[in-house]
Amino acid sequence: MPSRRLDSRKPCVLIVGAGLAGLCAAVTLAEAGQRCLLLEREPEAGGLARSLTLDGVTFDYGPHVLFEEDSPGGRLLVDILEDGPVISRRFAFAIQAGGRHFAFPNHFDVLRYPWRYQREILAGLLGPRRPGDDSARGELSAKTGPGLYALLFAGMLRKKSALDGDALHRHWLLRPGRTVHGDLEPLPRQSKLATLFGIITRLRRRYLYPAGGFGQLPDRLLARFTRAGGRSMLGCGPIAFSREADHIRAVTVGGQRIAVDQAIWTGPMDRLQQALGLGGAPAPRFEDILLVFLTYDCPRPPRRPFVYVYHPDPEIIFNRSSYPASIFNGLGPSGREGICLEITPGAVPGHHCIDDLVRRAIADVERLGLHPTARLREKKALLLPSALPVYDLGYAARMTAARRDIRAVGNLLSVGRLGGWHFCMSPEAADQGIKAARAVLAKSCGRRDP
Ligand SMILES: Cc1cc2nc3c(=O)[nH]c(=O)nc-3n(C[C@H](O)[C@H](O)[C@H](O)COP(=O)(O)OP(=O)(O)OC[C@H]3O[C@@H](n4cnc5c(N)ncnc54)[C@H](O)[C@@H]3O)c2cc1C
Repeated sequence: MPSRRLDSRKPCVLIVGAGLAGLCAAVTLAEAGQRCLLLEREPEAGGLARSLTLDGVTFDYGPHVLFEEDSPGGRLLVDILEDGPVISRRFAFAIQAGGRHFAFPNHFDVLRYPWRYQREILAGLLGPRRPGDDSARGELSAKTGPGLYALLFAGMLRKKSALDGDALHRHWLLRPGRTVHGDLEPLPRQSKLATLFGIITRLRRRYLYPAGGFGQLPDRLLARFTRAGGRSMLGCGPIAFSREADHIRAVTVGGQRIAVDQAIWTGPMDRLQQALGLGGAPAPRFEDILLVFLTYDCPRPPRRPFVYVYHPDPEIIFNRSSYPASIFNGLGPSGREGICLEITPGAVPGHHCIDDLVRRAIADVERLGLHPTARLREKKALLLPSALPVYDLGYAARMTAARRDIRAVGNLLSVGRLGGWHFCMSPEAADQGIKAARAVLAKSCGRRDP
């Protein structure tokens, strides 16, 4: 339902998608005095940055730790975060392989690695860069050495992205920033000494988290948008664009036709291609993510030093397990523990229904010695369709071609993790929204100036 009725004849700035990118665009535009309409397909805002409660345990759609980034999006998220109680902890995750946990950032754990791995890392640090290899394997094995790459990262990349490290582009790892048209922002070029210094500084990194769950951030952004006079429609149903020449003139939603001045799209790029009738355009590559939330009876609080643990072992069905107990550290319900498991169904050989994947995941929790199945209390599976942008080696040409037709629509920008086919974290998604809003504002100002 519309939060307030919009005069459908006066053109507005349309924002499709109330994830972090869409919300940050909407807040920026509404606070700059623009007439905005925010459309969201789901009944609640947040997109991938939502939380849910199961059996009294607060889970996120994935472990949503927020790092302070010195960028407009990063600053807006921290500003919003500080409207309520904040949890701040030192960040640590691990990769479980070869019978041990490899800790990251590794707090000098590297000194306990077998000498062979230490020697390979040192050789990588001191050796020359290998030009011409754009694969994720090339990027990572140059930093970690081939032995550690094979042990830790090869399986992790395959299980998460459904591609081998040889076929995966290194941009998928490096996550460079992008303009609103998808062009790469320059990657910072660093000397080896600066890289080493960066690694050491990151050892001290803390993350921030809203004490009531990450989903509080989108709720607060939506409230701020509404306070600034913005209109939103959650659970909006199907939308259709009316185009005239190379411009979107109106959107029809819920039986209402609303005039559009400029539009920002943050839903999946392939859906936008369909909505614009760009059937023949090259499709971006996305994988679905299946999240399995489990709660277990657990009389004594478990020690969880890691927010999440990767499992490169191909015999384990999930690629990552995450632990709300690590974030809430005693603030959660007593007598039980929640675990969230992340599976990329496209990376699991053969065809499996969701129930089958969940059953195997529960068995693997027991196999890893985390909890016996007999102690399982509640379970919930959630499929996030097209939630993971994937870059194969030829992705850049496909991205340019896929964007060419969208770019031809003069008053439309497609940004964010799904809209921009941009594998990014929350601060960068927020940046994408703000960049798009600023581009819209620049256009409006340009038209107003004589
Ligand atoms: C498992 C997982 C773990 C993560 N962990 C972290 C982390 O620890 N730290 C971090 O910083 N980031 C993390 N991220 C990344 C972060 O969640 C995303 O970068 C960010 O939420 C993306 O925001 P977005 O607005 O670009 O996309 P989305 O959140 O996907 O928003 C798009 C919105 O558009 C809506 N939509 C789609 N189609 C339509 C339509 N036709 N009409 C109307 N609305 C539509 C969708 O419903 C959705 O609300 C994680 C992501 C995942 C999946």
